[in-house]
Amino acid sequence: MKVIIIGASISGLYTATLLAKQGVDVEVYDRMSTLGGPSRTLIVTGKINEVLDSIPEEMVLNQVKYLELFSKSRSARLELSYPDLIVERRRFVEIFARMAEEAGAQIILGYLFEGFAQFGRKVVVTLRNLEANEAKQISADILVGADGVQSAVSQAASRNGHRVAALVQARVPLPESGKGDTYRVWFDTNQTKYFYWLIPESDRVAAVGLIANDVPQAKARLIKFLQEKQLEAIEFQSSIVPMHQFGNANGVAVPNRNVFVVGDAAAQVKVTTVGGVVPGLYGARALAQAILNGRNYRKELDGLKMELNLHLLIRHVLNRFSDQDYDELIGMLDGGLKEILQEWTRDELTQSFLRMIRAEPSLITLGAKACLRSILGG
Ligand SMILES: Cc1cc2nc3c(=O)[nH]c(=O)nc-3n(C[C@H](O)[C@H](O)[C@H](O)COP(=O)(O)OP(=O)(O)OC[C@H]3O[C@@H](n4cnc5c(N)ncnc54)[C@H](O)[C@@H]3O)c2cc1C
Repeated sequence: MKVIIIGASISGLYTATLLAKQGVDVEVYDRMSTLGGPSRTLIVTGKINEVLDSIPEEMVLNQVKYLELFSKSRSARLELSYPDLIVERRRFVEIFARMAEEAGAQIILGYLFEGFAQFGRKVVVTLRNLEANEAKQISADILVGADGVQSAVSQAASRNGHRVAALVQARVPLPESGKGDTYRVWFDTNQTKYFYWLIPESDRVAAVGLIANDVPQAKARLIKFLQEKQLEAIEFQSSIVPMHQFGNANGVAVPNRNVFVVGDAAAQVKVTTVGGVVPGLYGARALAQAILNGRNYRKELDGLKMELNLHLLIRHVLNRFSDQDYDELIGMLDGGLKEILQEWTRDELTQSFLRMIRAEPSLITLGAKACLRSILGG
């Protein structure tokens, strides 16, 4: 069986590794001429260790054990049972590429995906060699689009694009008040429905960022925030990110039964925090299982879909929160609720959600009040 994967980044390379390990003939194409760009500081939950069996030490820039949350007039500090890991995208992708090649996959850079056509059970993929400006066609049994938020594979299969948000972050010297083992989150509903964050890459450097509707808006607000905190940007990192919607994590480029999408291309992203790395790896694992065992990818994605839907539900509620609601929420962070947030990672919401409600039933009232207020326009 021959599989062509478009996109030599996190989800594409992990899919390639899993398939090639089982003897599948895999070719991975990317339009970039080098791996891993553009550079990005990423935070992932300790759950990544479970997905990958264990994460190579050289991938990790830093581990953070504490999370500090700030609303307008309250704060809370959590001690995470499973530290979050800070990784740099370029290094991460380079190591994934090595793993894919060791498993037997071929990675071919400098090729732009232009389209595909169906011939019986085969799919014929058109790729352009960007250096020579020449198109070539390759026949395969399966085509996988791991080509990110603006997936050309998904578009070629006539699927609608994803809803998107903009993410901007700046690398800054770690402020004196910062600590290398602690990341911080500030809620300020006048500036963002999401939050500002500070993620320490080391004892000296951190990434500070936020999510907003578009890149210029996000950048303007981030610059203001940096000025307030007296932080100077070393570099900016920004891009749009896909937002998971109810019913769209199926990853199958319908009606093409042998064309699939994975990772950001399938909007496999937790929309509470807009984290896509771990969901994309779960997506890759589900796709590899489906291909190897002749199973239905959509079915294999059921667990991930439930997880992403819960994040979406919570995001809908949080989008209606006022600063006072965040004060109230942070005020609840003691006792049972705090313990659950410390114990379970952000990639385990299906396990932790009901536990949180049981530990703090007034969460329901808080959410319902925020939704009602938004409906009534008050
Ligand atoms: C600034 C920023 C910070 C982020 N921080 C976090 C974080 O802290 N934690 C987290 O979990 N997530 C984070 N994310 C999201 C995370 O980066 C993505 O979810 C993740 O990179 C998705 O991986 P992917 O392999 O699916 O797609 P991508 O990494 O987007 O890779 C797609 C690949 O496809 C290639 N490609 C695209 N089109 C074509 C084409 N037509 N032909 C050939 N090749 C093509 C691209 O060159 C690229 O290599 C962040 C995103 C941004 C923008």
